[in-house]
Amino acid sequence: MSLLADLQPRLLLGPGPSPVSERILQAMARPTIGHLDSQFLELMDDIADRLRRVFGTDNPMTFPVSGTGSAALEAAMTNAVQPGDTVIVGVNGVFGMRLAEMARRQGATAVEIEAEWGRIVEPERIEAALRRHPNAAVVCVVVAETSTGVHQPMDEIGRLVAATDALLVADTVTALAGTPVEVDANHIDICYSGTQKCVGVPPGVAPITFSPKAMDRIAARPQPPHSWYLDVGLIAGYLGEERRYHHTAPINMLYALHEGLVEIEEEGLEARYERHRRVGDRLKSELVARGFCLYAQEGHRLPQLTSAVLPEGVEEGPLRRRLLDDFSIEVGGGLGAMKGKLWRIGLMGYGARDENVDRLLEAVDVVMG
Ligand SMILES: *Cc1c(COP(=O)(O)O)cnc(C)c1O
Repeated sequence: MSLLADLQPRLLLGPGPSPVSERILQAMARPTIGHLDSQFLELMDDIADRLRRVFGTDNPMTFPVSGTGSAALEAAMTNAVQPGDTVIVGVNGVFGMRLAEMARRQGATAVEIEAEWGRIVEPERIEAALRRHPNAAVVCVVVAETSTGVHQPMDEIGRLVAATDALLVADTVTALAGTPVEVDANHIDICYSGTQKCVGVPPGVAPITFSPKAMDRIAARPQPPHSWYLDVGLIAGYLGEERRYHHTAPINMLYALHEGLVEIEEEGLEARYERHRRVGDRLKSELVARGFCLYAQEGHRLPQLTSAVLPEGVEEGPLRRRLLDDFSIEVGGGLGAMKGKLWRIGLMGYGARDENVDRLLEAVDVVMG
């Protein structure tokens, strides 16, 4: 018997992956076809159209990276950043730190604009950094900082960066399809996401979009990006008219993404954002009623990811363990300085529903006695 036969299903209410609908799992089980088959190419074009609508962009260069959200992050950085560049990075959690690290690995100097964890990066600080570094090539921010539950406002930062030659890179791995992203309206040049958070598809592919400003910059590079696999110029050869072989697309993962995007459009983006907001608000008030303390700055809390500090004197590790062992519910713990102090509860995609809040709260009441 294979190990899979004994696999226990879990209710995934952590920071990702999120629960996947039966319909998407069925889509993945369809027969694998070739990546140059005209049926598959048509599917890829349809995925790109649907992604443009979810991202809120007209960018022709919009596609799913073969890899998880971190691969899309690396694709953004390896294409946008050149050795010797100055890259301004808003750092208020783990994923901002990761962006700074990737900028350095591309041979750039990372100017880290640090904000206290749990708070946004104030746009004025980005403005001041752009004044201090007028030659900055790239500005990076995390829209939904999954390590803290903070929702970074983008409109002002978008306007500031658009007025310069710098490219704006935005991490929307946890944001996309859970809260509005609006790539074009917010002047985002490279926006990447993932599938395993609010898109509601298993980890494995990662949507990304490049503005014409970004594509022009990349085309003018004297040296190609360090990564061959993630080179957007080479990937364009497969996506464009030529359909030139670069690497084999992860066919069945793309069936899943397609089905997920169809689900999103059937529900409607506005209705989907509203659903995330409603269940997220409900969870937050129920946790506060139980003595939890919300960690993220008021007014900038993500609906889809709630970070909550446990009541005084309650040890989180054993409780979280019991949620998993006794109730098959997964929630996330704190990272970095918040390790052992808070829970990160995701109500993302297919998981963002009242019955899951009910199931979680019932279990929390039992384990907290
Ligand atoms: C989850 C996440 C990532 C990384 O995605 P993986 O699928 O784990 O590679 C990057 N950024 C943010 C904000 C995330 O929440």
